[in-house]
Amino acid sequence: MEDMHTQFVSYVRELYGSSDYIPLHEPKFGGNEKKYLSDVIDSTFVSSVGKYVDTFEKNIANYCGVKYAVAAVNGTAALHTALKIAGVKHSDEVITQPLTFVASGNTILYCGAVPVFIDVDKDTMGLSPKSLEDFLEKNCKVSNGNCLNVKTGRRVAACIPMHTFGFPARINEISEICNRFHVKLIEDAAESIGSYVGDKHTGSFGIMGVLSFNGNKTITCGGGGIILTNDDTLAKRAKHITTTAKRPHKWEYFHDELGYNYRMPNLNAALACAQLEQLDLFLKNKKQLADLYSVFFAKTSTSFIKEIKGTKANYWLNTILLKDKAERDIFLEYTNSNKVMTRPAWTLLNKLPAFKEAFVGNIENSLWLEERLVNIPSSVSFK
Ligand SMILES: *Cc1c(COP(=O)(O)O)cnc(C)c1O
Repeated sequence: MEDMHTQFVSYVRELYGSSDYIPLHEPKFGGNEKKYLSDVIDSTFVSSVGKYVDTFEKNIANYCGVKYAVAAVNGTAALHTALKIAGVKHSDEVITQPLTFVASGNTILYCGAVPVFIDVDKDTMGLSPKSLEDFLEKNCKVSNGNCLNVKTGRRVAACIPMHTFGFPARINEISEICNRFHVKLIEDAAESIGSYVGDKHTGSFGIMGVLSFNGNKTITCGGGGIILTNDDTLAKRAKHITTTAKRPHKWEYFHDELGYNYRMPNLNAALACAQLEQLDLFLKNKKQLADLYSVFFAKTSTSFIKEIKGTKANYWLNTILLKDKAERDIFLEYTNSNKVMTRPAWTLLNKLPAFKEAFVGNIENSLWLEERLVNIPSSVSFK
C-alpha cells in the first residue's frame, strides 16, 4: 500500500468515529462504578478494610482460576511483595526480559537483587524459553535445592517473564525450565488479564502472578494490583506484609516483621468490582478491534502481531512492526502529529541508568523489536 500512514489515520478515525485526539488506551466506565463508589462513601469504609476489597479478591481469583488473590495499591507493589515473600534477597539474581515496563526491573532492585536480562521471542515479545535455558545451562548449577550462578557465585532466586501487551509468552516451556533449575517462577501478568495459555489464565502458572489495574490497563480502578497464588502460605504472607505485618488484635499494635502499607483501599476496590463485571464485554470488543486491524494491515507490508497457537491474547495494546527504525519514526511522527496516539516500545531496561549493574545476555530480538514495534489505539470504546 502506497500511503499506509494516511489510510491508517483515516481508518482509526472511522473506527472511533472521531475527528478529535485519539488516545492509545482510555478507560471506559459503563457499569456500576458510580453506584459502588457511593455505597463505599456512604459506608465510611473508604480505606483498606471493606467488603469491596474482599469481593474483588474473591471474584478475580475465581476469574483467573486460582485459589487466592491478594489486592494491593498497584501492580508494582504487588510484584515487590511477590518477590519479597518468594524469598528474593540482597545479592540474589532475578531473571527478566529487557523489553518490559520499568516496574518488572525496579522491583528486583527494591529487593537489593541483581537483574539478569534475557532475550524475548520475536513472535510473543515475551521471555524466550530457549534463551532462558541457554543462560541457565551455560552459567548455573543446582546445589542444595538452589540455583547457583557459578560465574558470579550468586543465587538465581526467581524468574519474572512478562506477557507483553497481553500476548502470552511460552509459559509452559518457561515453567518447565524454571522447575528443572529450581528457579521460582513469578509471572508479571500486569498487562494480560483475560489472556490464556490453553485454558489456563496467565499469572496462574508460577508460584505467584501479578496483575495491574492502572488507568491504562484493560480494566482499571485508578491504581491497583493483585497477587494471584494457589499456595495457602504465600497468600497469608502476602496479606500480612501488605498490611504492615500487624498481628490482628483488638487494640494492640504489634508488627512482627518489616511490613508495607500496600493494601488496596475499599474505594478503589469498588471501582475494580464494577470494572471486572464488564471485562468479558471489553475483551469481546478488543478482539473485534484486533480482527479489524488485522484485515487492514494484511493489505500492507506492515505486520500486525497476533497471538501464537494454543494461546488467547486479550489484545490490550495492538502492536505493529514497521520495516526498520527510520520507517517507525516516520509513522510515529505522522500519526502523533495528526492526533492519533501511537507509541514505540519502552526503552530497553538495560539502557536505563538504574540498571547499569545488571547482567545483560544476548538480547538481539529485544533490540530488533525495540526499533520496530509501535502500539496503536486500542481503547474498547470504538464504534
Ligand atoms: C502496568 C505494569 C506493571 C504495574 O504497574 P502499576 O502501574 O504499578 O500498576 C508492572 N509490570 C508491567 C509490565 C506493567 O505493564
